[in-house]
Amino acid sequence: MKLYIHTDIEGVAGMVHFEDRQDDTTEGYYRRLRLHKLLTGEVNAAIEGALEAGVDEILVNDSHGSGYSILFEELNPAAQIIHGPLTRQPFWTPCLDETVDVVFCLAQHAMAGTNGLLAHSCWCVNGDLYFGEGGMAMALAGYYDIPAVLITGDNVVTAQCQELVPEMEAVVVKEALSPYNAKSWTPARAQEMIREGAKRAIERMDEVPPFRIEGPYTLGLVGGPGQQPSSPASGEDFRDLVFEVLCRGYDYDLQQLPVWPMEPGRRRPVLSKGQRRAQEQK
Ligand SMILES: [Zn+2]
Repeated sequence: MKLYIHTDIEGVAGMVHFEDRQDDTTEGYYRRLRLHKLLTGEVNAAIEGALEAGVDEILVNDSHGSGYSILFEELNPAAQIIHGPLTRQPFWTPCLDETVDVVFCLAQHAMAGTNGLLAHSCWCVNGDLYFGEGGMAMALAGYYDIPAVLITGDNVVTAQCQELVPEMEAVVVKEALSPYNAKSWTPARAQEMIREGAKRAIERMDEVPPFRIEGPYTLGLVGGPGQQPSSPASGEDFRDLVFEVLCRGYDYDLQQLPVWPMEPGRRRPVLSKGQRRAQEQK
């Protein structure tokens, strides 16, 4: 049985502020390192629970920010990991396809415009369906008829995902008191809860339906529930449409993606944001 673990970081127990992006400072560096250790602990806890329940193949998607937030060398060796810069990868959930049997959504945050910790990103699908990044991972799994059986994070994101699929298992590691304050369990307790939740989720996976949205699709990113996307993408292929919207909204740049698989002599240079800006100014 093959498990795909989609991860973010804002939903980790202990995270109450956006990650310090100035990681060239010593303080920022150590703050980042601690946070990544907490995330890695929660991912390992989920892996342990899944292994106990009989999963024998695990793929972890390191999907926050740099695409390199999980401490690779500390990951449970039963799993493989997908990592690397998000804006250069072929898709938001690489290798999530029909070969996967079941999906976990770990350390997720609430959708934009709602009262969760560090809430951001709100998808509007087909005009009246709203969900965050966790919901989108569930929908991409559902597109292949795969159930997403576990959600972890604060009390708000877990409720938002269970609103989409009430049968899924939820582990609440902290309660939002404001966008930047929480009442939280400690890492040891949160990880124990996640291990147990992961085990239960696999044992109960047959009771959890995939989150399927019927096409044709119209979708886009908005500031919060109730809003309409200014220029939605429309069509039949949900996965392609999601990627199209991400390219527009999150500085994914199709023109800058390396050609892959590569044909001899056809590889285009991959430029950094700074190099691109410099080229545009010429
Ligand atoms: Zn994130």
